[in-house]
Amino acid sequence: MTDRIRVAVVGALGRMGRETVRAVVADEGLELIGAADVAAARRPAGEARMSGSDIPISASVAEMLAGQRPDVVVDFTTPAAVFANACEALAHGVTTIIGTTGLDAAQIEELGRRAAEKEVGVAVIPNFAIGAVLMMRFAAEAARYLPHAEIIELHHDQKLDAPSGTALKTAELVNAAMGEPVSTGVAETEKLAGARGGKLERVRIHSVRLPGLVAHQEVIFGGVGQCLTIRHDSFNRESFMPGVLLAIKRMVGRRGLVYGLENLL
Ligand code: NAP
Repeated sequence: MTDRIRVAVVGALGRMGRETVRAVVADEGLELIGAADVAAARRPAGEARMSGSDIPISASVAEMLAGQRPDVVVDFTTPAAVFANACEALAHGVTTIIGTTGLDAAQIEELGRRAAEKEVGVAVIPNFAIGAVLMMRFAAEAARYLPHAEIIELHHDQKLDAPSGTALKTAELVNAAMGEPVSTGVAETEKLAGARGGKLERVRIHSVRLPGLVAHQEVIFGGVGQCLTIRHDSFNRESFMPGVLLAIKRMVGRRGLVYGLENLL
């Protein structure tokens, strides 16, 4: 078939990368043509291919793109690696979908600029789970009426960055939707540094890291004599795959920056 979307996965040996490879291979509209992971160098000779396929695993994005041009690259690597990876893919004129969290606002803007310059797309998606996208939307709605909110995000203990990209995006949306600031009138002191979490404008974020967790978040709104909690749980990494596949299909032909899955639904 020639009209399938040609996909390459970066971080292909990681937890999200492996799940993405499985989902891409299982989708009739997509064709896995490339894979890259720095961990490939640590594999024994003869195991340099994605299991269950004849796709070689390159040690870098540059190596992966040397001999081929995918339609879309999907990145699930690390906060330290993702910006350089995305710049490399965009420099090759390949639309890039970023699931890796940890990019700052300036980096996201810069990637958008580079994508526009190359007339391709870049999608930065803090959370591919549809339930999480709805949680963010409902939180923004609640913030219009309940102007006191805090976020608790909970993830597995291997997560490198804190707070999560989802928590930051939620806080941005909640801040934008809140009306005039309402003071509690209390001069707080922290007896233990960090006890009150990190603060993005008016929203505090608390990060929990424990084995056994996957990805979870609560947005708690307090009002007079009442409390509203909006919670989302991803119990496994499969929960992200419908969103990943949708993003791949919707980003083909898009130009410039898309930030958040809600802009592709
Ligand atoms: P992981 O298991 O640590 O996988 C990352 C993989 O990328 C590892 O195999 C790592 O190799 C490799 N890598 C590191 N630097 C690289 C580079 N420069 N080029 C190619 N590969 C490189 O992590 P994960 O759990 O899959 O998570 C990956 C990212 O996705 C994290 O930022 C996480 O927060 C994010 N995430 C996003 C969503 C979403 O919905 N957007 C959902 C879940 C997770 P080494 O082990 O050698 O470093």
